[in-house]
Amino acid sequence: MAKYDYDLFVIGAGSGGVRAARIAAGHGAKVGIAEEYRVGGTCVIRGCVPKKLLVYASRFHDEFEDAAGFGWTVGATTFDWAKLIANKDKEIARLEGLYRANLERAGVDIHATRAVLEGPNSVRLASADRVVTADKILFATGGWPSMGDDAGQGIAGIEHAITSNEAFHLKEQPKRVVIYGGGYIAVEFAGIFAGLGSEVSIVYRGERFLRGFDEDLRTSLAEEYARRGIRIVTGTTIRRIEKNSGGLSVALSNGTVLEADAAMFATGRVPNVKGLGLEKAGVALAKNGGIGVDAASRTNVANVYAVGDVTNRVQLTPVAIREGHAFADSVFGKQSWSTSYDMIPTGVFSTPEIGTVGLTEAEARDPQLIRARYPSLAGLGGEIDLYKAQFRPMKGTLSGRAERMLMKLVVDQLSGRVLGCHVLGPDAAEMVQLAAIAMRMGATKADFDATMALHPSAAEELVTMRTKWTPPAK
Ligand code: NDP
Repeated sequence: MAKYDYDLFVIGAGSGGVRAARIAAGHGAKVGIAEEYRVGGTCVIRGCVPKKLLVYASRFHDEFEDAAGFGWTVGATTFDWAKLIANKDKEIARLEGLYRANLERAGVDIHATRAVLEGPNSVRLASADRVVTADKILFATGGWPSMGDDAGQGIAGIEHAITSNEAFHLKEQPKRVVIYGGGYIAVEFAGIFAGLGSEVSIVYRGERFLRGFDEDLRTSLAEEYARRGIRIVTGTTIRRIEKNSGGLSVALSNGTVLEADAAMFATGRVPNVKGLGLEKAGVALAKNGGIGVDAASRTNVANVYAVGDVTNRVQLTPVAIREGHAFADSVFGKQSWSTSYDMIPTGVFSTPEIGTVGLTEAEARDPQLIRARYPSLAGLGGEIDLYKAQFRPMKGTLSGRAERMLMKLVVDQLSGRVLGCHVLGPDAAEMVQLAAIAMRMGATKADFDATMALHPSAAEELVTMRTKWTPPAK
């Protein structure tokens, strides 16, 4: 008789957990997975996927406006929030079904329950109130909006605020929205609501939103958002939220009071570790509050592993998927490999959107930081060349849209290696995904230059920028 009920028990059926469970089962392991909410996790159910659908919806207004310059007369347009949300929900349900079917096809037992660690080899399934045992246990419980834990502290009326979780299910489109935070989610939802016709204010505690991104991207997007009528209030925090007959009054630390129908907090996500029984097995947490793991996703307890946003690593879906896959191959498939964190491309689905990979200009100027944060690029940077192009995309010539596109390459002066590629404008994320292949392979500026341009495209700028950028004389 087998010593345990399962070879592997996965807690959390999001991107990382599902991938790990399926791959492990494919290697012949007997696998169980527990999910307390919906199969698919944040990305599929209330993150990347529904967000992108709302982004698509929010961009039609530009298309209607731009059409005139190309000879079209577009009649009166109206927008139906309830229909968008219902259609989005239908698509999410379809995807959830696919995820579930894939798990079942792989032979994974799905338990629709909260699961809590009882000991290094045992897990309590809360709704059935029974304990299952497993040789290996994997935590893939993701993250959770942090508003209640940190940003919300001391804010009277915080209970009137929502997070992205609720934003996906609002019954009505808020006509006036205050968004708190300056990261991915704040900037993306600001673009969504503004595109759908809401009056949007971003309230951010720092000077310029998207901290950590290249400065040119940050400045240019802030300019474009301002041009689109998005109000950006910086150097300010939210003090108080009051409900009144007309909606909400959001009082800021600079004395301003913003009237709104919704106040959305997008102030980061914290690893989802609460009440999981980690302490019972002695699983240690890292500094960020996530589960501490090594390169093999192993915790300090030999048979307990963790992948994705619940750990102390990068909070991105493709990263969680890779980590889950590497874990399953290494532990059950006898093909040991670990996730590479080099040159992770990322997009911010603002409108205009951002695609970015590699080092920012500021990072590239700092060899010490490179050595500490990007060991595979150690020895590069310090002396760099910049190539920048800022132009009106071709479509703008007839549409009359003033929006400008930005492309920037950060190049190591000595080796010529392209260290950073930053794009703002239509399809930026699509372009940067492909640039990331070349950059991961160590492409130099000379390689970019030797690549034939694809004309007419915006992306061709990436291989035709010949003049080093120098700051304008003061
Ligand atoms: P981010 O970490 O990107 O941004 C959080 C923002 O909230 C920052 O601007 C931060 O300010 C601010 N903030 C944090 N704490 C406080 C506080 N106590 N008071 C006031 N402001 C505060 O988090 P998001 O919530 O936007 O997204 C969570 C994660 O999800 C991201 O890190 C990303 O990895 C992932 N994600 C990825 C997407 C994509 O790939 N397109 C889309 C959406 C999410 P400051 O800058 O000063 O620290």
